Amino acid sequence: MALQPSSGHEGSGMKTQEGQSNPVLASDVHNIDQGLIEKMLYDALVWSSLHGLVVGDRSSQRSGKMPGVGMVHAPFSLLPTSFPESYWRQACEIAPIFNELVDRVSLDGKFLQDSLSRTGKVDAFTSRLLDIHSKMLQMGKNEDIRLGLHRSDYMLDQQTNLLLQIELNTISSSFPGLSCLVSELHRSLLGHYGESLGLDSKRIPQNTAVDQYAEVFAKAWAEYNNPRSLVMVIVQTEERNMYDQHWLFHLYDTHNVKSIRKTLAEVDAQGELKPDGRLFVDGQEISVVYFRAGYTPNDYPSESEWRARLLMEQSLAIKCPSISYHLAGTKKIQQELAKAGVLERYLDSQEDIAEVRKCFAGLWSLDDPVIIQKAIENPKLFVMKPQREGGGNNIYNEDVKVNLLRIQKEGTEEDAAYILMQRIFPRASPTFLVRDGICHKDHAVSELGVYGTYLRNKEKVIVNQQSGYLMRTKVSSSNEGGVAAGFAVLDSMYLT
Ligand code: ADP
Ligand code: MG
Repeated sequence: MALQPSSGHEGSGMKTQEGQSNPVLASDVHNIDQGLIEKMLYDALVWSSLHGLVVGDRSSQRSGKMPGVGMVHAPFSLLPTSFPESYWRQACEIAPIFNELVDRVSLDGKFLQDSLSRTGKVDAFTSRLLDIHSKMLQMGKNEDIRLGLHRSDYMLDQQTNLLLQIELNTISSSFPGLSCLVSELHRSLLGHYGESLGLDSKRIPQNTAVDQYAEVFAKAWAEYNNPRSLVMVIVQTEERNMYDQHWLFHLYDTHNVKSIRKTLAEVDAQGELKPDGRLFVDGQEISVVYFRAGYTPNDYPSESEWRARLLMEQSLAIKCPSISYHLAGTKKIQQELAKAGVLERYLDSQEDIAEVRKCFAGLWSLDDPVIIQKAIENPKLFVMKPQREGGGNNIYNEDVKVNLLRIQKEGTEEDAAYILMQRIFPRASPTFLVRDGICHKDHAVSELGVYGTYLRNKEKVIVNQQSGYLMRTKVSSSNEGGVAAGFAVLDSMYLT
């Protein structure tokens, strides 16, 4: 079903024969009157333009480079998705523990190197990251001030009723800006139409991601302690999701902190490391480097980009993430942390360990013949994952079997490039997905991401918080979930 927005507010909306509003449950979208949907769609599209819930339009060539050129509303769901409050609380409580875990793991250089060394032999990208990391170890480089902006992603598994972690992002966690806007959009729509829908806008939790991110940037900048220094955002040469990033960098208006945007190639051309380790780019001192690029091999088309990454890593600037934080967020490390006895090395409290372990799905390396056999026999129950970020890289269904058999037959070391993960099956429900102004009704599943912010200076933990959320919803027939990659829409949460 596809709907175009109606042109305005006229029309009687959804009334029963007696003229009463006909309330529907959050998930009962079958009963919503078509006229009401069209009105909500129109309002939602206007709201998106007025409030900057926008991305670059793929059909406009310059839109990914030039702000203000070729914008289109970000894909969103028309109504928030129902989510049980108890699982939301669980995901919030666990966020600071994951922050602490990343920090502790990042300090164990040997664990990172040992766990990833086989992967590095067959995966050139991982190998380059490991090289930078080992250079830092050789230099004895310590990061006194450590800044983490993480997002832990979960799906609610229907069969086990468990909230299971998909992955933990430590680099370029996207949508802290636009996710807040979608929550606001849904609150606004329920403010107008909630009575007819039987929905209460107050059941959508406040989303504070953008404010908390901005605040922790300002605090990191203050810890660095040079008022003339800048925050530098590392961006891709072409970025359709630039508005999400710009939302964070109202920093000057809100916190009096200046920021600049540079590509890795520009940092290579304009960057300079002073003898005392301070980083200057284009003649200005950089206190904080925030990566919204650099997480995929595509971001390093030449040696220039790798030189820039190394230059920044060697500097005194606060990297978000440092190379150690980046590696701690890889899928291989996620799988290593799930092994028996490993969490115990990094977390002190038994309660915290139990909380974290509870949300781990089954995770295996490909050197386990028993699990390989199971996956070949039942490939639908597994996902095969390479060491990549950004969506569209995982292997599903029959392809799992085909690839496992191929790797087995070839007898190469290629197995080290992947991990195997238990496939999570969330409940699908009918949803209105809006893309390019058109509303489609389809069965969809959701993935909840919970942001975490972490800042410490030596022994002093300055910030360690859960910091807002991202709900992404995708048609249930799609395996992958990225919004930027074109699979999912932005969503918010209606607590039940
Ligand atoms: P990326 O780093 O590319 O985002 P993810 O591990 O998040 O990699 O996987 C991408 C998408 O694939 C997720 O957003 C989710 O929709 C789907 N996915 C990943 N792992 C699983 C799983 N174990 N079960 C079901 N779906 C999964
Ligand atoms: Mg992901």
